[in-house]
Amino acid sequence: MNIVLLGPPGAGKGTQAKVLSQEFGVLHVSTGDMLRDAVKRGTSVGKSAKTYMDNGELVPDDLVINMVSERILQKDVKRGFLLDGFPRNKTQALELDDALTRIGKSLDLVLYFKTSPEVSIERLSGRRACTECGANFHIRNMPPRKEGICDHCGGSLVLRNDDTPETVKRRLSVYENETESLIEYYKQKGTLREVSGNLDVKKLFTKIKGLFLEERLL
Ligand code: ADP
Ligand code: ZN
Repeated sequence: MNIVLLGPPGAGKGTQAKVLSQEFGVLHVSTGDMLRDAVKRGTSVGKSAKTYMDNGELVPDDLVINMVSERILQKDVKRGFLLDGFPRNKTQALELDDALTRIGKSLDLVLYFKTSPEVSIERLSGRRACTECGANFHIRNMPPRKEGICDHCGGSLVLRNDDTPETVKRRLSVYENETESLIEYYKQKGTLREVSGNLDVKKLFTKIKGLFLEERLL
């Protein structure tokens, strides 16, 4: 299954993608995670991306497009991919279509996580990320076993640079101005299906699984 997860920051795309990827053996491709990793490793991509990310802006299209096109060509994509955080504007969506056509693939489904701004903001402000392995927690919804410490690797948990109130506002407005129009784009193509991003992790997973069955993806 080749799937795009679409929705505002804080919709829970990354959280669901991780569970779905484990459960169904599809590859989770998160441009945000890839970029954060590049920043951490200090690669040239990371160096170009950092300021945009810290300010809540989109990094330049060609940079993410190359990253994703290369990633979905690799051998571990056997059972398909879940794109999380890409495409984020019309140019990226068109380039994705082209790239998929070139390799004889197509999207089976675009899953739109419809989420209220209040829920998004509450999730992002309470989110804590591990500085070592990148795992996410939430101070109320998904607390770590020990406050401030990652359950998986013992690393310390911090508020992400771009989860500060001001940057969150900027990210939400970038979403409204650039990404939201993709809902209409994929609706027209007939691949869009909607779920509520306001649901908790388990309920949303159950919904998505049901939808995959309906769409005969499982
Ligand atoms: P979010 O929680 O907002 O979905 P992500 O982890 O997906 O956060 O992305 C974090 C940042 O990485 C974005 O604010 C943006 O700067 C950059 N980024 C991620 N994906 C893309 C993309 N497809 N195009 C441009 N910039 C991107
Ligand atoms: Zn960790």
